[in-house]
Amino acid sequence: MKCDRQKIVEYANSALDTREMLDFEEHLKACQDCSKNLQKITKINDLLSAWSEKNELGKDFDNKLVNKAVSMMEKQDMKKAILRPIWRVAVGLQVCW
Ligand SMILES: [Zn+2]
Repeated sequence: MKCDRQKIVEYANSALDTREMLDFEEHLKACQDCSKNLQKITKINDLLSAWSEKNELGKDFDNKLVNKAVSMMEKQDMKKAILRPIWRVAVGLQVCW
């Protein structure tokens, strides 16, 4: 299995099916890069949800963020990813990677 950023994002959001998840966990054990990236994504996820709770962001803000993430994903031709709840990570990736 090769390194696959998209898989890391999906794994962090529990969007993989069981087989893919197990395969990816095997890869994680052997691959420091992916473990590090997974930690990064998990941290971004946590920070973002803590931040939005703390600031009691309204629906409007969420929608703007989602729209931004969706247009980002369309640019990257990842339309199927829109169906999955990865927009928080997508926004985080833009900031950190
Ligand atoms: Zn890897």
